[in-house]
Amino acid sequence: MIPVIALVGRPNVGKSTLFNQLTRSRDALVANFPGLTRDRKYGEARLGDRPFVVIDTGGISGDEHGIDSEMAEQSLVAIEEADAVLFMVDAREGLNAADQALARHLRQSNKSFHLVVNKIDGLDADVAVSDFYALGVESMHAIAASHGRGVRAMITEVLQPFPAEASSEADDAFPNSTRVAIVGRPNVGKSTLVNRLLGEDRVVVYDQPGTTRDSIYIDFQRGERDYTLIDTAGVRRRKNVKQVVEKFSIVKTLKAVDDAHVVVLVMDAHEGIVDQDMHLLGHCIEAGRGLVLAVNKWDGVEPDQRDWIKNELGRRLAFADYADIHFISALHGTGVGHLYKSIDAAFESATRKLSTNALTRILEGAVFDHSPPMINGRRIKLRYAHAGGQNPPLIVIHGNQTGKVPNSYARYLEKVYRRELKLVGTPVRIEFRTAE
Ligand code: GDP
Ligand code: GDP
Repeated sequence: MIPVIALVGRPNVGKSTLFNQLTRSRDALVANFPGLTRDRKYGEARLGDRPFVVIDTGGISGDEHGIDSEMAEQSLVAIEEADAVLFMVDAREGLNAADQALARHLRQSNKSFHLVVNKIDGLDADVAVSDFYALGVESMHAIAASHGRGVRAMITEVLQPFPAEASSEADDAFPNSTRVAIVGRPNVGKSTLVNRLLGEDRVVVYDQPGTTRDSIYIDFQRGERDYTLIDTAGVRRRKNVKQVVEKFSIVKTLKAVDDAHVVVLVMDAHEGIVDQDMHLLGHCIEAGRGLVLAVNKWDGVEPDQRDWIKNELGRRLAFADYADIHFISALHGTGVGHLYKSIDAAFESATRKLSTNALTRILEGAVFDHSPPMINGRRIKLRYAHAGGQNPPLIVIHGNQTGKVPNSYARYLEKVYRRELKLVGTPVRIEFRTAE
């Protein structure tokens, strides 16, 4: 599972600077969910090809009286969601009472935490760090976030205890099942949809209600196929429908996406597509998962508005045009059964074994129809292709000057592969290698 790291500390110790440093190249796709996160900010980061999530908790007040309430307000939530906590202090200011109060709080939280002494640029790191021994934290790191100094080494050590292989929490009893995550922002109808999907006539559920803070995994069979539903809404954890609705958690959602083969992103037809939907969609694409879009509450849309809404959605979702869009009513069950067809197709496309032979043949055809451009009087040569991975399908193309292939040509190749292989519901990645 993708590890989650929370940054906590007094204001001005450099949390945002470190957050930006870590998420810089990633665009912080999921940052700033207004109204949901208060002052917490979520971003995706990577160490080599290992993804992890960073939560920036913003400032806490800094005066000891305020700490209890402020910690309870937001940092505690972040700490609760995190697998590891980076407790940041300022080398230039030295140890102060607010740091000590925070350290006490962290100890009570029972989370593994690391002390990060920031702003050591221009200082003697050993001396700067020695001031903080008094906090009694075993794992200490000296960094300069604004210069990126020591950051990589620190993150490497922090991530070390977490398994690098993305292993699934899914039950081994269903090793071949299609893992389907139902995600979406609060109130779009995830719980209603989960109940519908599981309540369908042909569905046999092997239910083991979970108790963890993460999503619930529900195995079921439909026809000949096995599925594992990753339920971020926590439907089965609740004893009855009246019980308090599960709190929406971005971390839980990100983890569910990463652990799924196919994601069903649920949106609300009444509200159209809002920023939070776009953030989630961005994450699904980035994660490379199979994707099915479900526009829910279609029952409440006036018939004379339907075409207009369909057009509008199609336009805004054009960058994910490989995904099927379904207009459904989870409440009445309309259209819900059809989701399976798209889920199955996306899974099949995302996990299909692609032969070197077929991939190379398609490449030759594409190049024949439309040759790559000349670079400095030399034509780019693309010679052969093979599969480099599944879910998402990765197609590795070998040739000369491949570093110079224009984006537009890469997109053309992707389109040809998609068409020829009939790949649906999944992103397709193309990677070029130069064989000199
Ligand atoms: P936050 O309130 O904890 O999020 O702190 P910020 O990231 O906003 O940083 C507070 C100030 O410290 C800013 O002026 C940063 O430029 C500065 N700062 C952050 N990291 C470093 C560092 O490694 N070295 C130095 N010299 N200044 C830093
Ligand atoms: P969640 O927070 O995403 O799990 O959303 P819920 O499943 O709890 O649904 C939120 C509200 O939307 C509830 O009042 C549902 O009854 C309602 N709802 C869910 N699906 C539909 C639908 O297809 N049509 C209509 N009209 N209401 C729906």
